[in-house]
Formats: sequence, C-alpha cells, structure tokens
Amino acid sequence: MCATCGCDSNGNVTIHEPGHQHHHDDHTHTHQKKVVDVEQDILHENNLLAQRNRGYFDAKNILALNLVSSPGSGKTSLLERTLTDCKGQLEFAVIEGDQQTTNDADRIHATGTKVVQINTGKGCHLDAHMVMHAVQGMKPKENSVLFIENVGNLVCPAMFDLGEKERVVIISVTEGDDKPLKYPDMFHSSTLCIINKTDLLPYVPFDIEKVKANAKKVNHHLEIIELSCTSGEGLQLWYDWLKTKILIPETI
Ligand code: MG
Repeated sequence: MCATCGCDSNGNVTIHEPGHQHHHDDHTHTHQKKVVDVEQDILHENNLLAQRNRGYFDAKNILALNLVSSPGSGKTSLLERTLTDCKGQLEFAVIEGDQQTTNDADRIHATGTKVVQINTGKGCHLDAHMVMHAVQGMKPKENSVLFIENVGNLVCPAMFDLGEKERVVIISVTEGDDKPLKYPDMFHSSTLCIINKTDLLPYVPFDIEKVKANAKKVNHHLEIIELSCTSGEGLQLWYDWLKTKILIPETI
C-alpha cells in the first residue's frame, strides 16, 4: 500500500488523504506506527494471494509477466506489436491496469487477444487480489503468455507481487536516464529492462550507455533490450527473450 499518496488497492480504506502532510508533533509516533502496521498487514495478505496466483500459473504453464513503467513509456504499444507480430506462434492473454477508461483494453481487443481491464480508481497499482479475480474471469489458456500491464507508476507497483514469473520494466528515451537511480526498487525487482522509442535517440539528450550503467548499478543481473515499437528495430530480441521463457508443447 502506498502510505503517502492515500492509494488503497481495495478502494475502500484511505490511510492518508492525498497530499496530506503530517506535522502533528504531539502524536506523530503513534500515527506512524499505525500506518506501518496496516501496511505490513496489507502486504502480507497480498503476498499470500500472489503465491496462490503463482501456483495457478505454474500448474497451467502460464508465463505471467508484470509490465511496469512510468505513464507513456509505450507498454500498450509494445503489447500491440507483440500480439500482432507473434500471432500464431504463441498463445496470449492480457490484463490491463489503469485508474480509469478501457482505452488500453480496447486497443488490445482490436488485435484479437483475450483481455480484461481493471480500473483501480484512486489506486496507483494492481495487486494480487485484483489479478486473481481477473484471471478467474478470463481463464487464460494453458501454455500461454499472460501480460499484466500495471498502472503507469514506478513507485507503488514495485511493492506488490502479483504472482508473476518475471517483472519487465520499460523506460523510454524521452525520460531521464537517471530513472534507475531515482526508482531503484522497480529496477532491482525486475529481470528485464526494455529501453523503448530508440528511434527518437537522435532528437533527445538521453544517454543510452548512462542509463544502462545506472540500471546495472541497481541490479547487475538485469537484462537489457533496446527497441522501437515504431521502427521495429530490436523487437526480435524481445520476441526471442519471450520464447526462451516459456516451454511450449509441440502441439502449439
Ligand atoms: Mg498503457
């Protein structure tokens, strides 16, 4: 749970008011302890549900990938290209997470892929409970890839295990190349970093070697793929990575 922005994944309980500052000197200690206790309870419950999701995915040989990034990095565009280019090679399903609208789910639906949209309202991340319900409704096929596009946010989604096999963090070249240092939890908990929009490199001051060095500083195991969903450059590397991650029976 985000203890500072007031986001609550159940949509019912608000721990902090958005933007609320706590300067109540007479009871600061008691208040903070209460927040920490509630946060631990919520994360513990989330972790239990995430393990249930993971067990389900393992039993069905579903490769669940949690796609995380800032808003506007190109998560949905990457999915559109992937679902179109790999049609017939892999079986896919998608869970879309946004605060409002079904815009992204509509884009995914247009590719002919099974998709569920989760609107989190004021929530700034998906949690394992939301994913469990979405999966129960959509019933992704065995031996498939399940993309979970998280809410655009590099902070809170890092704390919430959804039961995914791997976390994929996406950064675009229109962002700052110090993002891995500013948001280390997200880069540390991911196994793959995709650097998107490389076709724009000649027009922006983004230093691609610097961002890679920064990302490796935070997580030296992190794999990195550079690509552009617009030009198509580098996409094959991503598709090859996907195919190494799932064991596909000969029948598919
Ligand atoms: Mg999106």
